Amino acid sequence: MALPKVSTPTYELTIPSSGEKVSYRPFLVKEEKTLLMAMESKDTTAMTKAMQDIIIACTDGEVDPKDLAPYDLEYFFLQLRGRSVGEIIEVNAPRPVNFEACCEEATEEDICKLSINIDDIKIDTSKIKPAEIEISDKIGIKMKFPEIDAIQKHSSIDGEMKAVDIFKLIIDCIDYIWDGDEIHKAKDSTKKELNEFLESLSSGQFNKIKEFFESMPRLSHDIDWVCPKCEKSKTLTLMGIDAFFG
Ligand SMILES: [Zn+2]
Repeated sequence: MALPKVSTPTYELTIPSSGEKVSYRPFLVKEEKTLLMAMESKDTTAMTKAMQDIIIACTDGEVDPKDLAPYDLEYFFLQLRGRSVGEIIEVNAPRPVNFEACCEEATEEDICKLSINIDDIKIDTSKIKPAEIEISDKIGIKMKFPEIDAIQKHSSIDGEMKAVDIFKLIIDCIDYIWDGDEIHKAKDSTKKELNEFLESLSSGQFNKIKEFFESMPRLSHDIDWVCPKCEKSKTLTLMGIDAFFG
């Protein structure tokens, strides 16, 4: 005798970058299993692939993850997880590294359990800077946001990113460089050439590029970390999807 088929509810969400509404179903046990395996492997490429596959399955192919900005993908995934597992996410956060020892015996084992309601997490796209940056009258650079797996490598529980990583990531985010009417696509240039181009800019010019890059919305959430020993607290910024699965 055939076992009954379980029907799943559908929900709707708004894609942050486009404002488009899409409907989706929660992910199922088989999909969660794939995801957990990818997460355990700590392989960001495998995890991105698992996230993309789940989004395709849960929207019945209506959404192509390649059309999504990295912050769309993170946001979508967090919503999916909320509908699938529960709206409240519990994150075990260790004492923030930049938190001056609040009590003398503070150790790395000081874990604070953070409860986050995913409905409280919004993505603000209003502060995105223009992607076309003029370097001179003739020369300019068109930027794009990085791929999700490039960003995931830089996800962290305290949202810090090293200058050297930012530089590498910026090289990956060049779409093209224009010189009058001539367009030099980044994919047709070597990393060395792009690196030299960036290094030849003045700090002021480079800062404009950095500003675009830094204006990219991220999945982030500020929450108070409370020391389990002395109860002093510090605001912690959870940044990137990985931080919400910690
Ligand atoms: Zn303390």
